[in-house]
Amino acid sequence: MGKVLIIGAGGVGTVVAHKMVGLPEVFSEIMLASRTKSKCDAIAEKIGGNRIQTAQVDADSVPQLVELIRSFQPDLVVNVALPYQDLTIMDACLETGVSYLDTANYEPKEEAKFEYKWQWAYHDRFKEAGLTAILGCGFDPGVTSIFTAYAAKHVFDEVQYLDIVDCNAGDHGKAFATNFNPEINIREVTQKGKYWENDDWVLTEPHEIHKPLNYPNIGPKESYLIYHEELESLVKNFPTIKRARFWMTFGQEYLTHLRVIQNIGMAGIEPIMYEGKEIVPIQFLKAVLPDPGDLGENYHGETSIGCRIRGLKDGKEHTYYIYNNCSHEEAYKETGMQAVSYTTGVPAMIGAMMFMQEKWKKPGVNNVEQFDPDPFMEELNKHGLPWHELHNVDLEL
Ligand code: NDP
Repeated sequence: MGKVLIIGAGGVGTVVAHKMVGLPEVFSEIMLASRTKSKCDAIAEKIGGNRIQTAQVDADSVPQLVELIRSFQPDLVVNVALPYQDLTIMDACLETGVSYLDTANYEPKEEAKFEYKWQWAYHDRFKEAGLTAILGCGFDPGVTSIFTAYAAKHVFDEVQYLDIVDCNAGDHGKAFATNFNPEINIREVTQKGKYWENDDWVLTEPHEIHKPLNYPNIGPKESYLIYHEELESLVKNFPTIKRARFWMTFGQEYLTHLRVIQNIGMAGIEPIMYEGKEIVPIQFLKAVLPDPGDLGENYHGETSIGCRIRGLKDGKEHTYYIYNNCSHEEAYKETGMQAVSYTTGVPAMIGAMMFMQEKWKKPGVNNVEQFDPDPFMEELNKHGLPWHELHNVDLEL
């Protein structure tokens, strides 16, 4: 049992707060802080039942974070703001002696390049301070990494081929919208593809490799090979992996919009001058696109995210598919948020619970697959993200 500070009052922060409020035996006190305090207040009022304190903080500012952390004195900071704030929040945690959890790895604002190297560089300092940092505790990264750890622990003697498959078969009724922060999402899906094979990274053009894959309860969906951050830590933590790839489904309409956005320069991250003022095109685009937090109401269908794994068991080849399907309607009914925010927020809450219950406590900077997957997997089943396993099936990959 302990005190938790959530930073970021977006779609994911709403779900994290929602789930924590119902567990007073784990989260004795909750504070939700973000850039815009009124958003925290609205969430607290809607779901808090007086359990959520709120505060304003600019998480780009270490002194502001330090002041807030010193005044509230949490045991853990859950960072569900944007990846740009990872390092300032980690700095503030080190300065105040508090442990840390996030769902997305650091990305510099001026370069669309996410890598773990910046956060891994904090390992010794967290270790020496006796503090735990839990990296990538959403769904992907997060549950997909924990699924892989679970497969390596219980299903295989050697995990060799890993394909993470992420399908959103939902329909929100808008011509174009992103399911989480538009700036981060568009930066992620427009970059070059990349996968791991034979001890090296292979680069592809954006969306160059694609094929239809069958998703449980959904059917075939065109799936595109893209780079995703958990590949970097998984091939390091499971060195028997010969090939690791990540596939995400996109509809034709979505890809057409994306191509136009890129072609006309609206995905640009370099500032331009407009009427005497500097603006960043992708930030302006974010301002005119639908807010992902508002998509839930009319969202139908479900997500299906999982790991398709081939490897060795007792000297024989074995195939394994582990996945979760999450309904947008059900997620909305429970939390007022769609399934993408839900599937990220629930694992972040469970990771925080693992820390509070001392099941995941390891001084240093750790990716989620470096902890015991078993207690986390149990909680997934209890908190709205049940998982399913298929053995010796055609993985299609
Ligand atoms: P949103 O854009 O909805 O919310 C982000 C929140 O962070 C907003 O409330 C925003 O404030 C706040 N924020 C931004 N900058 C600052 C700052 N400098 N100081 C304080 N607060 C700040 O994003 P989501 O909720 O959709 O996503 C949250 C995180 O989850 C992102 O890092 C995203 O990459 C990650 N994610 C991870 C996934 C996974 O599976 N691992 C999947 C989906 C998302 P304001 O309201 O004022 O703008």
